Amino acid sequence: MDKIEHIGIAVKDLDTSNRLFEKLLGTSHYKMEEVLSESVKTSFFKSGPNKIELLESTDEDGPIAKFIAKKGEGVHHIAFAVDDIVEEMKRLRKEGFTLLNETPKKGADNKLVAFVHPKTANGILVELCQEIEK
Ligand code: ZN
Repeated sequence: MDKIEHIGIAVKDLDTSNRLFEKLLGTSHYKMEEVLSESVKTSFFKSGPNKIELLESTDEDGPIAKFIAKKGEGVHHIAFAVDDIVEEMKRLRKEGFTLLNETPKKGADNKLVAFVHPKTANGILVELCQEIEK
């Protein structure tokens, strides 16, 4: 795995949290995107070399809504950049991790993504993401 690509934060209201993170980071979000397959609206911030993804649920039964109901707002996942997501998934399965996806799927920000089950990763939801070549 390569660098931390971004940190995902579950929020109740994207507009409110966009304003909060604008104040916190001293910079505006640079894009917003809805991911229908995940029932989320996302916004992205850059802070130096780092990236923060805010996630608001668009469906009260969606994964982000469920997360907030259980744990409240906060850090939802850590995403690592990978060069070859299929190989990395194979390697992690072999190491005993449970993956939440059979195959990579299209995520926000032009990425192929897959998730490692937090139960097998010390409670951390780990996202693998590979840039889709344009
Ligand atoms: Zn993410």
